[in-house]
Amino acid sequence: MRRLWLKVHAPELGSGGSEFDRRLADHGIAHEREVAARIPGLVGPLFDGHGDLEAAAERTLELLRTTRDPLYQPAFLSRDGRRAGVPDFVLHDGDGLVLRDAKTFVNPGGLTAARLQMAHYSALVEESLGAPPLRCEVINGRHEVLRVELPPRAEYDALIARMAAVIESPDEPELLQSHSKCEGCGFYGHCWPRAIREGWIEILPAVNRMNQPQLARLGLGRIPALAAADPVWLTSQGIKGRTEDLVLEARSRAEGRALWRRAPGMPSGRTLVWFDLEGDPSADVEVPIYLWGYAVDAQPTATSAAALACEAVIAAPGRDGDRAAWEDFLTRAAAIFASHPDALWIHYDEYERTWLKRYLERYGDRAAIGARLLNSMFDLCRALKQSAVLPITSYSIKRVAAHLGFKWSDPAMGSQWSIVQYERARAAPDVAERERLFEPIRSYNADDLRAMKCVWDWMVRDGLAP
Ligand code: SF4
Repeated sequence: MRRLWLKVHAPELGSGGSEFDRRLADHGIAHEREVAARIPGLVGPLFDGHGDLEAAAERTLELLRTTRDPLYQPAFLSRDGRRAGVPDFVLHDGDGLVLRDAKTFVNPGGLTAARLQMAHYSALVEESLGAPPLRCEVINGRHEVLRVELPPRAEYDALIARMAAVIESPDEPELLQSHSKCEGCGFYGHCWPRAIREGWIEILPAVNRMNQPQLARLGLGRIPALAAADPVWLTSQGIKGRTEDLVLEARSRAEGRALWRRAPGMPSGRTLVWFDLEGDPSADVEVPIYLWGYAVDAQPTATSAAALACEAVIAAPGRDGDRAAWEDFLTRAAAIFASHPDALWIHYDEYERTWLKRYLERYGDRAAIGARLLNSMFDLCRALKQSAVLPITSYSIKRVAAHLGFKWSDPAMGSQWSIVQYERARAAPDVAERERLFEPIRSYNADDLRAMKCVWDWMVRDGLAP
């Protein structure tokens, strides 16, 4: 709702979309066009985001009343002219209409996300034509047509009423979503610095939708107040969640330093292999993991992060390239285990374990190397969260390592940047050019590996005596 208010009242506070956002949008448009190309006799687009919306809505109604043509990007307006909707397609089925939207998702969760949008289109069709559509559908990233079960009309009406109230209000809503939701939002640079400056408790990872209103009612809506609270008293007041965490996070923020829950108990005396994958989260890509990065650290206490020798297997384009990269990585992992049977593979968060399992399902194992690797992994992020609280907004490796003083070779690099860079390299006309474009991705991944070692070293050094 805050984003809605900002879009209407202060759009200048938002940043334009990133190159990655544009890439996602392009991906969506390409999918929509593919779907459109498969519908015979399609008329449109009637409204492509530019031009006269009212005229497009009139033309849509005229075509629906006088023809049975399937329509591309038809426009619908509410009776009061305050709501508009442009579904991707409207099709005829017997005497009824079918609304269909093209979506790139492949996971079932995408269908849930489409419910309210389709309810909106459905309501507009009913207002325009006097009858609701026969059904609403999406065609997903695999070109499967899925029926969308609409929410009760009252839910949609309530949402519209809330949105209208937000738009009409002169005051910016004082709401903050979770950091993971906000990070990709164009208004992040407006909302988060203000929340940090003013000490909103919403910036703490342990604060959520359940306990934030409870804490605010107790007068603990700002970090200094929460930092001074007694966890036992908070529990007695019915505060949801781990109250020790709430207070510890608030204290860490208020004092601007890391606080330890317990000694981290880091494994010692083993060869460490820093392990980090770069992948493309888009649905149905041929190469989900395009870089397998690692660095063998046989003497962790004697080797600095800067001195790590980082290696990477980068997948060539296409399914064959994907498989070849996986096989190459397994070969290298086998060689590492041969030289360092005790190797402990350090990764950050669930991503590496999840994708290792998926590749094992996708292509199978070889001499049980993948299975051995799965049994030799250590999640540094998990260990960190279990043992320490830091005064940061998220526990991504970027933020944690930066807080501990790690310097990235290029601060503009990030996972989204890396995906765009890989796509560019993939499209390069020759191998030499492709290799040249891969170089910055290697550096970026090497930075991630070194950042992990920096966090590990800090935990070993400072976490011994909490
Ligand atoms: S940054 Fe977060 S709180 Fe602010 S508008 Fe975006 S999603 Fe909403």
